[in-house]
Amino acid sequence: MTKDLKGKRPETVLTHAGRDPQANFGAVNTPVYRASTILSASYADRKRAKGEREPRYGRRGTPTTFTLEDVLAEIEGADAAVLCPSGLSAITTALMAFLRQGDHLLMADCVYGPARNFASKLINRYGVETTFFDPAIGAGIGALIRDNTKVVYLEAPGSQTFEMQDIPAIAAAAHARNCIVMTDNTWATGLFFKPFEHGCDVSVHAATKYIVGHSDAMLGAVTCTHATYGPIREMWGLLGVAAAPDDVYLGTRGVRTMQVRLEQHQKNATEVATWLLGRPEVAQVLYPALPSDPGHAIWKRDFTGASGLFGVVLQPATEAQLEAFFDNLELFGMGSSWGGYESLAIPADPSDNRTATKWAPAGPLIRLHIGLENPLDLIADLEKGFKAMHRMA
Ligand SMILES: *Cc1c(COP(=O)(O)O)cnc(C)c1O
Repeated sequence: MTKDLKGKRPETVLTHAGRDPQANFGAVNTPVYRASTILSASYADRKRAKGEREPRYGRRGTPTTFTLEDVLAEIEGADAAVLCPSGLSAITTALMAFLRQGDHLLMADCVYGPARNFASKLINRYGVETTFFDPAIGAGIGALIRDNTKVVYLEAPGSQTFEMQDIPAIAAAAHARNCIVMTDNTWATGLFFKPFEHGCDVSVHAATKYIVGHSDAMLGAVTCTHATYGPIREMWGLLGVAAAPDDVYLGTRGVRTMQVRLEQHQKNATEVATWLLGRPEVAQVLYPALPSDPGHAIWKRDFTGASGLFGVVLQPATEAQLEAFFDNLELFGMGSSWGGYESLAIPADPSDNRTATKWAPAGPLIRLHIGLENPLDLIADLEKGFKAMHRMA
């Protein structure tokens, strides 16, 4: 029997959700069931209608999968979850579940680039039209909603540029016209933002980031309400986007410690971001947890924490100076993805991914992921990068 976690606090939920040790010889963790074929006990059993949680074929899931689905649904306050092999497949599965020929999609201008590509390069081929909108639109979204608008898709804060969105105001306007509201909740996770308490109907995750948390497995998740679960589970089945059991196991293993990791990411990121604010090389720090950030008021109202990823707009610098900065960092690795235990720094340029707004910063943008190292060492590392930059001046 899994435990009744109603009213329990997030740390407790993360520790106990989805586990049933006595169903697994007392083992604390649900094991990795590597299964394609699942044998029926008898002819009658083979013919019997199976419940959704009864394993019948590897792609349809096993207890390994159901465990993580339950944990993710519990921590987000969702009614159910579906796992996919990547964050991007979770996004595309959720969108396809609700969009058909002739429909209209509204998408925030700041969403993850490949989500945008799916809208502008793939579903447009099947007769779905997309309008991108300024993430600061708030209740003004009402003016963009058409009779055929089906989905309003958000991501707060936005990819690379970290704009907050007034999700409750957008959701109220969208629901008044019967639209489904989806948000990409990868940055905050279900621990720092509760999408369903703020008007969302679907939440998507790159579990690759904080849920897996160790820069190894790729994984995605969609969490849903009772009303949105049916179409999403159906689309998931039609597409065959099942996550692999070993990756799911790593996701479950990672998520058990997500609260302590996120608290530390937040503490370290705040320390590094605050230090950066005082640096002469820095024009702007894009981190909603800072009082100087334009999204701070909304973040404070709706979110309970901030994770370790933020943007830094530098003062104007040459390519040679940027090269010197990045190549002289020792602790910060240069790589895509984020959400692992280690720090990352990459150059970023979202200008090609904006159509409703214009990205015109004072200088080059860098994206930092602040890991679990001691923040004083990270600050010293960045200082070393800045020194190298000045030598190129
Ligand atoms: C990385 C990322 C994704 C995509 O996840 P993958 O697992 O890489 O497919 C989606 N949304 C956001 C905000 C991301 O950062």
